[in-house]
Amino acid sequence: MTQLVLPELPYAYDALEPWCDSETLHLHHDKHHRAYVDKANAALEELRIVDPSDAARYAGLEAAREFNLGGHVLHSLFWENLSPEPVRPAGAVAEHLDAAGGVDRVRSLLTAACMGVQGSGWGVLAFDTASRSLQVGMVHDHHAQHVPGSDLVAVVDVWEHAYYLSHRNDRAAWVSAAIDHLDWAAIDGRLDAVTASLAASS
Ligand code: MN
Repeated sequence: MTQLVLPELPYAYDALEPWCDSETLHLHHDKHHRAYVDKANAALEELRIVDPSDAARYAGLEAAREFNLGGHVLHSLFWENLSPEPVRPAGAVAEHLDAAGGVDRVRSLLTAACMGVQGSGWGVLAFDTASRSLQVGMVHDHHAQHVPGSDLVAVVDVWEHAYYLSHRNDRAAWVSAAIDHLDWAAIDGRLDAVTASLAASS
């Protein structure tokens, strides 16, 4: 089993200022994300040796695995799908956006998803492998509400820890800025990987 590792940010801590300040990014990446990595590794290790007849212990470890592994995966995607400079959609992702009603409609839906999350969670863009289409959705916390069989291609963190230092309670300002700085080239690359694996398995 591979030990999970905290990935380096693909840009400097101050590269996303002013809409994502350096102090927030240090806390978010170095503290929050690191904690998810460490706790996911601990849960995975404990699950290798837990006594399955100890139902309460098992359930607690499983909940820790889902929450922390989900947190690690989502944050790893999130850092990669942000760009210091705006990037326009091109290639396959542009075609899929057109099929979904156009980039403006998808951005509006993703904004609605981000604003609609109750409490802590994420707005997500996923490629649904059943309908073979881009779909906008929400993830509650790190692991609930997501449709099995759809692959995440872009995610926006709307936990308060992502924006509260700079934006206070103005989630809308954070969501607007984050969506303006989605790295559509990185998202296109992820979409290519998903569709290539689908083609290989069909
Ligand atoms: Mn976060």
